[in-house]
Amino acid sequence: MRTQRQVVDYSLQKRAVLRELLAGRVGTYDVCDASPYLKNAARFHGEPTEERCPICRSENLTHVHYIYGDELKQSAGQARNLVELPVLAMTLREFQVFVVEVCLGCDWNHLVEQFLLGRDGLAGDGSEQGAAGVNAPGAGPAHGRRREAQR
Ligand SMILES: [Zn+2]
Repeated sequence: MRTQRQVVDYSLQKRAVLRELLAGRVGTYDVCDASPYLKNAARFHGEPTEERCPICRSENLTHVHYIYGDELKQSAGQARNLVELPVLAMTLREFQVFVVEVCLGCDWNHLVEQFLLGRDGLAGDGSEQGAAGVNAPGAGPAHGRRREAQR
């Protein structure tokens, strides 16, 4: 998505949890604890993936996108379909998205990543173009130095 920024990836944490599980330091009951709310969100707003569940290996994971931010008011904390996010990103200045993977087979769930979306991300593009203009050929102190050398 065009305005996506400040991405935080949680795949290291996920691998750590899976390692703990393999080592027997945590049980599947500890990690396969998706709440009824999360499972409902996955059913109604979830984005199907091609990725197999790392625990039961019988279902594909579903990604749920939760949105947070002051501008969302009563919608803050709700799950949204992936197709709704670019529309929101053009309407709002800034909001936070949390992506959670869920297995509807065994209730495994883990945070995948978080990032910011919103129109404020577009403002950054404009200032970069402005900075490039300063370095245009012919401009800058090079002329002054050349005149010094001729004297
Ligand atoms: Zn599973």
